[in-house]
Order: sequence, then structure tokens, then C-alpha cells
Amino acid sequence: MALRFEVLGRFNRARAAQLTLPHFVCQTPLFMPVGTQGTIKGLTNDQLEEIGCQIILGNTYHLALRPTSELIDELGGLHKFMKWPRAMLTDSGGFQMVSLLHLADITEKGVTFQSPVDGKPMLLTPEESIQIQNRIGADIIMALDDVVKTTITGPRIEEAMYRTLRWIDRCISAHKRPNEQNLFGIVQGGLDPVLRDICVRGLVERNLPGYAIGGLAGGEDKDSFWRVVAQCTAALPEDKPRYVMGVGYPLDIVVCSALGADMYDCVYPTRTARFGTALVPEGVLKLKHQVMACDTRPIDPACGCMVCKNFSRAYIHCLVTKDAMGSQLLSYHNLYYMMKLSRDLHSSIVYGKFPEFVCTFLQKMFPEGEVPEWVCNAMEVAGIDISSCCSPVSSSYGLNLDEKAHAV
Ligand SMILES: [Zn+2]
Repeated sequence: MALRFEVLGRFNRARAAQLTLPHFVCQTPLFMPVGTQGTIKGLTNDQLEEIGCQIILGNTYHLALRPTSELIDELGGLHKFMKWPRAMLTDSGGFQMVSLLHLADITEKGVTFQSPVDGKPMLLTPEESIQIQNRIGADIIMALDDVVKTTITGPRIEEAMYRTLRWIDRCISAHKRPNEQNLFGIVQGGLDPVLRDICVRGLVERNLPGYAIGGLAGGEDKDSFWRVVAQCTAALPEDKPRYVMGVGYPLDIVVCSALGADMYDCVYPTRTARFGTALVPEGVLKLKHQVMACDTRPIDPACGCMVCKNFSRAYIHCLVTKDAMGSQLLSYHNLYYMMKLSRDLHSSIVYGKFPEFVCTFLQKMFPEGEVPEWVCNAMEVAGIDISSCCSPVSSSYGLNLDEKAHAV
């Protein structure tokens, strides 16, 4: 195991921790920006450090195709290759294949796909995924899992969950750098609590350095989403980091943190920036909108970032459709927003002010008190009283006791 996870503060299920990785000491809850090709689009490494980014995510699939993991290894690993001094996580490559390639097929051996380079059939096995990730050299590496969309039902979910458990053993035996890299297992099982439970217990038996909750943020309804998170966080060990993959929106991160999750990753903040959208405490601000053309205020007057200190909405509106600089400035602001959200979650838990933080966050996002019912339900299970910021309509939680017992 190449990490240390020390819980510094708690509020019911929520925790703030220090996660010591080989390349950086991180504070959780934390958000990880996604850098597809070893770079976060439009931002320099100095800027990433400046906004307080602690760990970035690299896509194994993209890195393995170009520049190839062999070359990265030869050049001293991805940290050195891209000159990133802080922590890094790589995914297994499987999810990218299944989601990007139409011809991907999953068998017991691994994921078969057609090479986008020369069209030849290729196979990514659990062993190979780990070997590639060992060459890339990230602080955290992910097991190859059998990913199924949460909206799929039937025997395929069960098959994928049991295969994920069989593959974890192949990943563990293939892992050649356990003293320098931490292998995380991924909990699968769709929206079925029984399957999720079998998977959690199976993975916990393997005593891995950390655990991820996978297969979410794939179009399932929000109530199902938070229930799976609540069930898994309650069953995973207290002394290991918990990572909810592919999440998410700021609201999702606040809810998942209340339920005891620690780590998140999502392309949303940078992707939405490229479409001209800024993340603000009230929700989103669309800079392309004509009303921005003469708005001399910063994106968020309360934001302390370089963009908000220097530029007006009018300036960014002018750039956003015509110049790459527009989306770069928005990406900077959006990632700053996510990093600040992570820091605020951490410090509010450490200083015993977590419920106040959650209420202020919800009040800004839902000024009329129209907090979605799923958020109210999740917060009730998390033991966070948000009645002061909810309207009477949405504060009727509608959870029966059986459901609550299950979710906890
Ligand atoms: Zn800003």
C-alpha cells in the first residue's frame, strides 16, 4: 500500500481527511480534473497548481494510443513526461473503450476492440491494463472492471459484477509496483442493492488501498444514484478512501460528501466551459447569452480567481464564440470553483460547520427553497438538517423506514 488516509474531522457520515500519496499530500473531499492526453485542456500545469489542483486524472486508453505507455515509461513516467509534480490517477482504459468504440466487446478474457489506429482487433486484458498503468506510473491506478450502463437491467448486471470480482484478482497479481502505486477496486452491481453488497464485500476482503463506486452518472434517476452511493459508503472501510467515479455536478459532490464519499472526477467543468458556461454559486451562467454583451461585472463577483479579478462578463462573452481564450478562461474559473468547493467541504467538516455550509450552498442554488426532493432524502439519511433552507413542499421527505434502513 502506497498511501496513508487520516480522517481529520467528521460530521455524521461526512469526513474530511488527509490522503498522503507518493507525489502529494491531498485534502479530501477532493475533485480531480480529467486530463485526457496528459493535459487539462487549455490550462498550464502552473495554473493547475495555482488554483489548488491536487490530483489529476489521465485516460489510460488515450495515453496508451499516443504517445504509448512504453514511451512514457522510457521517458521516466507520466509525472516527468508532462512535468506534473503532484498526484495523478489513471483509469483502466476499459470505460473509454466501451463508451467511445462501437465495436468493443467484453468477454472473460478482457475487452476486445478495433484499434482506431489501424482497424485491427485488439484485446485489453486486466493484466495488460495494469501493466500499462504500471508504466505510466500514476499514484492511483484503477482495476479493469466490466462496465455496464446503470440503465440496463437483467442478468447482464449480475454477470458484470461477478466478472469485476474475478478480474480484480487478475489485476492484483499483475500489479508490479504495489509499493509505489495504489490499486483501487471498483464496486459494480448496477442499481441492485444485493449485487452491490456482494461486490463491496468481495472487494473489501481483498484489502485494497482504496475503493471506487463505479457504474453511476450514466443516466440513472437521482434517487437511485444517491441510494447506491449511500449503501456503498456505509459498507466500505472507514480507513480507506472512497471514490465516486464520473461525478459530477457541484450539487452531486455536496450530496455524496454528506454521505461519506471522498473523491470525484468529471469532465463536466471543462466541457461545459467549452460551451460557454460558467459554474457559479447560483448554478450556471451562460456567457454566450446576449445579455452578457454589456455586463461589466466579473463572472462571479464573489470569486477570487484570476479570471474574475481581471475580466468582465462582456469581455468573455466577446471571446467565447470566437477565440480559444474564451473557453480557457472559463475552464480556469470553473476548475477554480470546483477546487474551492473541495476546500470548503474539507474545512467546514473539520471545523464542525458542515450543516451550515450545506445550507448556504443550497440557499444560493435554490433561493426559492425549491431544493429537489432527492437532495432532501439524501440529506436526511446523511443526518444533515436542511429544513431551514427547504420550502414546505420539498421538505416532505417521503421515505419510509424500510427504505431508510436499506440506504443506511
Ligand atoms: Zn472566478
